[in-house]
Amino acid sequence: MPDILFLGTGASLPSRERAPSCVAVRLKRDIALFDCGEGSQRQMMLSPFSFMRVACILITHMHGDHVFGLPGIIQTMSMSGRKEPLTVCGPEGIRDYLDAVLSICEGSICYQLDVVEALPGREIEFKEFSVSVFGTDHVVPSLGYVLRGHDSKGRFDRNKAISLGLSPGPDFSRLKGGETVCGVRPESVIEPPVKGFSVAYSGDTSPCEGLELAAAGADVLIHEATYADSEKEMAAKFKHSTSVQAAEAAKKIGCRHLFITHVSNRYDDRKVLEAEARAVFPNTDLAEDLRLFSATKDGIRSA
Ligand SMILES: [Zn+2]
Ligand SMILES: [Zn+2]
Repeated sequence: MPDILFLGTGASLPSRERAPSCVAVRLKRDIALFDCGEGSQRQMMLSPFSFMRVACILITHMHGDHVFGLPGIIQTMSMSGRKEPLTVCGPEGIRDYLDAVLSICEGSICYQLDVVEALPGREIEFKEFSVSVFGTDHVVPSLGYVLRGHDSKGRFDRNKAISLGLSPGPDFSRLKGGETVCGVRPESVIEPPVKGFSVAYSGDTSPCEGLELAAAGADVLIHEATYADSEKEMAAKFKHSTSVQAAEAAKKIGCRHLFITHVSNRYDDRKVLEAEARAVFPNTDLAEDLRLFSATKDGIRSA
């Protein structure tokens, strides 16, 4: 089950309380970062997560509040002796951006850096999870991501198998391999596979069908809510979402938990947006910097 750590929950500008966009999802030992705003590496240093365990950085779009932390963390990983490859995925422009910054600023990267300019529909496999890419609707080309942990095998009921007359050893191996043994079908002693946990991330977007389709059935949705419900026109103009629109998306995709993030600095009391979203989708939390949540089979718990 994954842990979700909010590293930066601000919108556009950093503030004393909030860094720009960055969310870490940890599955087993591997971490995926959604976006990498300025200061993300330092936020990680203040958290229990190690940035050396980051397997991929998934950038939604080329606005500074989502990418200005990227070259820094890439360079620090190199200076810290990273050996494992790192994948950076993003829209068109991500390669030119990194090539420019990393070539102009002195210092070589001593590990394999795989930069992927992805289109919606792309699937990328990692050791502990897969990532699917979908298109979103912002003022520049923009992507969202669904991270899915791999399905795990169902539990084998050893005692039941023995009570049905089977013996540990070859009988068990054949059952686990899908064979019916002495009239006992595998499904009568092996529980169904457990679906991998999934987390969908919107990046910056107006309400969009692409997200609703790609993220359908995700366990957790992390959705931007730049504006309060009273500022729908502003949200539409700048292609962002309101608190209520984020909650409506959560309802449509049928997730278990919604986090709203990227709330504008204009709101002194961000809890108002949380309340608006909860009125539509009760299982909503407002994301705050350095808050860590753990997924359990009973739901999402603040760690
Ligand atoms: Zn933004
Ligand atoms: Zn943006």
